[in-house]
Amino acid sequence: MKTFPISLLLLLSFSPSYGQKAFEFWPGATYDSKIPTLHQILGYDPGDKVTNHAGLLRYLEALSSAAPTHLKVFDYGESWEGRKLIYAAIGSEANIRKLAEIKNAIQRVADPRKTPEADARKLIAALPAVVWLSYGVHGNEISSPDAALLTAYHLLAARNDKIVDEVLSKVVVLIDPTQNPDGRDRFVNYFEQARGLTPDASPSAAEHNEPWPGGRVNHYLFDLNRDWIGLTQPEILNQVKALREWLPLVYVDLHEMGADATYFFTPESDPYNPHLTPNQRTSLTLFGKNNSKWFDKYGFDYFTREEYDAFYPGYGASWPFYYGALSMTYEQASVRGLVVRRSDETLLTFRDTVRHHFVASISTLETAAVNREKLLNDFYAYRVSAIEEGGKEPVKEYILPRGRDASATDKLAGILMEHGIEVNRAKAPFKSGEKEYAAGTYVVPMAQPAKRFIRTLLDPETKMDDKFVAAEEARRKLKERTEIYDVTAWSLPLLFNVEAIASSTVSTGAFEPATPARIVPGRLHGSTASVAYLVP
Ligand SMILES: [Zn+2]
Repeated sequence: MKTFPISLLLLLSFSPSYGQKAFEFWPGATYDSKIPTLHQILGYDPGDKVTNHAGLLRYLEALSSAAPTHLKVFDYGESWEGRKLIYAAIGSEANIRKLAEIKNAIQRVADPRKTPEADARKLIAALPAVVWLSYGVHGNEISSPDAALLTAYHLLAARNDKIVDEVLSKVVVLIDPTQNPDGRDRFVNYFEQARGLTPDASPSAAEHNEPWPGGRVNHYLFDLNRDWIGLTQPEILNQVKALREWLPLVYVDLHEMGADATYFFTPESDPYNPHLTPNQRTSLTLFGKNNSKWFDKYGFDYFTREEYDAFYPGYGASWPFYYGALSMTYEQASVRGLVVRRSDETLLTFRDTVRHHFVASISTLETAAVNREKLLNDFYAYRVSAIEEGGKEPVKEYILPRGRDASATDKLAGILMEHGIEVNRAKAPFKSGEKEYAAGTYVVPMAQPAKRFIRTLLDPETKMDDKFVAAEEARRKLKERTEIYDVTAWSLPLLFNVEAIASSTVSTGAFEPATPARIVPGRLHGSTASVAYLVP
């Protein structure tokens, strides 16, 4: 009761600021009136309402109609509940005209076995840096999809803006406004039903307390940000397909965390996955430093090197690392509504959170534009060194015999191929060392661009840094909290209970590229049953 008058005052002094037109998301920007604002299409200003999935689509389509030479919308699938999964490609007129050509050139740079260095250099000289910004994987982390719209608008409408001009000419920006549209709409529908005429800042107000299961998860209650190894859900499986077409150099997954926090960006906290290269780790700091430049300029609070580690490869913000990209999570303190009172009695508004994700998005694009050539060269070098290491290291290939559980082995091989890993299948029995393997056995050669991903997925153990483990043990003795974010083990042969032999020699025999199929159709042996069928 004591705090009531204070909070009432804060609320009263806050309320009139809704709809206040003087609020500037990017101070000093001048915008072309031919590009429609959010207000013109959806009837409110950015941050004044939480945009539902239909609104996200409608606005991006309106931008595309107004500037078809600079923005194109692509479908990449459908959620379980039938909502469209899309991304918008934004860039200069020249780049948007030749998107297919750009994709093609990227695929050539991605395979040094077919593209020698001199050819790669030529391709790189003409290629833009592709950056994929992924918003809203957790449907109740609400600010990032609205920031996606603002980012697209700013890129199309800002005039006489050096950063925007440089981004448009040097970067192809791919914006996925919401990875989890079913969860997003579950949140928005509840919020709209629970809210009153004025937003309630109290964390215990109905509008801040979404009922189970909440908007975080998708239709089948999957946390999509833990589905990047298994690829069990259409939202992530289809996103991976789209990412494999583009192989973006930079991928950002924009999230939210508790209301009392501030903002997080790279560098991550320890431990890092040992299969990330030293160059990837140093390049991440370019992005962190540029973000901190803008956050300092605008006075936004943030932190780095705490909480969010880079060990588990199955988050959205980790998967792209393993084809050679730079991959990052950005985390904004969440309002879960339009305004919330934090435990220190300050107010956090939805509009501010949208602005922070928007500024971080533009800052990321600026960094990618400035470092275009370096990022492309690093990507090529990553793929070259992966193949070289795979040829030199003691483990030359993984052999997956189908003996223990044929269907589980097929499924594992199918998933590896969906990740872009090359898998071969023996056409006839073959010998490796002293052992003989049957026809149908899978062989995963290590001398390929995806080598580091194969190692972290198939090795029985991904080693954690010794110093970090020692520090964890010391914390445990003192009964202090662990500093590991969550998942620490994921070896797929163990999860699937299939045999995986790490072989020190390259098998010779008759092999063909396996075809991606998680479920290999069964066959009927003998004639039609009169009593029952036996399924091994
Ligand atoms: Zn999240």
